[in-house]
Amino acid sequence: MSDLNAESTAYRAALDVVRGVEPRIADAITKELADQRESLKLIASENYASPAVLLAMGNWFSDKYAEGTIGRRFYAGCQNVDTVEAVAVEHATALFGAPYAYVQPHSGIDANLVAYWAVLADRVEAPRLKKLEKRQVNDLTDAEWAELRAAFGNQRMLGMSLDAGGHLTHGFRPNISGKMFDQRSYGVDPATGQIDYAALRETAREFRPLLIVGGYSAYPRKVNFRIMREIADEVGATFMVDMAHFAGLVAGKVFTGDFDPIANAHIVTTTTHKSLRGPRGGAVFCGPELSDQVDRGCPMVLGGPLGHVMAAKAIAFAEARRPEFAQYAQAIVANSRALAEGLSRRGVKLVSGGTDNHLALLDVHPFGLTGRQAEQALLSSGIVTNRNAVPSDPNGAWYTSGIRVGTPALTTRGLGVAEMDQIAELIHTVLGATTPAAGSKAKYQLDPALADRVSKQASELLAPYPLYPEVDLG
Ligand SMILES: *Cc1c(COP(=O)(O)O)cnc(C)c1O
Repeated sequence: MSDLNAESTAYRAALDVVRGVEPRIADAITKELADQRESLKLIASENYASPAVLLAMGNWFSDKYAEGTIGRRFYAGCQNVDTVEAVAVEHATALFGAPYAYVQPHSGIDANLVAYWAVLADRVEAPRLKKLEKRQVNDLTDAEWAELRAAFGNQRMLGMSLDAGGHLTHGFRPNISGKMFDQRSYGVDPATGQIDYAALRETAREFRPLLIVGGYSAYPRKVNFRIMREIADEVGATFMVDMAHFAGLVAGKVFTGDFDPIANAHIVTTTTHKSLRGPRGGAVFCGPELSDQVDRGCPMVLGGPLGHVMAAKAIAFAEARRPEFAQYAQAIVANSRALAEGLSRRGVKLVSGGTDNHLALLDVHPFGLTGRQAEQALLSSGIVTNRNAVPSDPNGAWYTSGIRVGTPALTTRGLGVAEMDQIAELIHTVLGATTPAAGSKAKYQLDPALADRVSKQASELLAPYPLYPEVDLG
């Protein structure tokens, strides 16, 4: 044991303790690391957090209730949670150059709900209370309360359409946001695959939304947030950006100026576990106009804050402030470009023709495949991607016609542009060799020998770049 480094010692000891209660859980944890080490992961929303981030989560903050905000908790004895949250906020505001950060949200979706509630409270509730000269909602008469509730449920949101790369929480009917808001979408110009800002402006002028939401899960280009803010100002809308996917590129100063959401939006939400490489979680950034409303996130929208996860967020934000993180963010985009160019050169059709962020969207229709067939064929060949709708997708949101690939995870492992070209070759080989099964949008045929050969090549590509080389479980 004495020769082992700190990470290996820590994980071996932790697994021994867990195994003493339920061996199947210790085994599943061990197996998960082995599986992740073997997998060529191109899932654009996933990454590998550092051992320091992961280790910061397994501790006594999990036992503590801390509803409220720093120094103003509904529970006693929160002095250490206060420290953790304050350090996380200090790093988060410095990292993003944001006036205010709220680091309690448990996930990206929770961060969006906090932001929506804050905007509604600011734009719908506060002006009514002021006009009626009431301090809080409990002071309203039944009739005033009924009017406020009706007003809350009848506000308008303009968000990016799902098939152009928007997220379900940007006002879509199956999601709670689609019931909270009367939503209309903006999308991309079919000719370029890029956001049509003129059409967006026209829709905003006509629809006059309370809220315009920027950001995406599957759009391969930069977004000009300065233009979107101009449009929001013109129609009196609050402008929110959901940077869940590309927060790492903002932190790493790849997206600056017109493309920096923090500098251009009234309120910004994020996850912390995607390109930002932190723990599973969320955060909200805003100015002083909205911070009081955002602070009400817990317990008005969220359950009790997860002190152990805020501790891990603090570590991740601190890591992202180091110069190496900016290099990492640039490498993500260089790899994404190399992968997209490698695919393009081999004749694979890409939505918008390429990428300037961490992801690319392949249109697999020319191969005669659905996204689902392509995804499964690639998976059987050791390449992990996910299917995704393309703009105006003829196969709908379930089968789709696209494959989304992203480079944050493989860039963390250390793979570079040369490997990206080889991966493009493997993807092209598999898609070219796959044929759809007659009459099925899900079944396909692929020579198992070819799938095996590609799997081996994928493993060989990963071999020089071990995942978590500092962790040896024995
Ligand atoms: C991933 C994502 C979310 C949701 O994040 P969770 O942590 O899974 O809740 C929200 N918005 C966008 C744009 C995303 O890509």
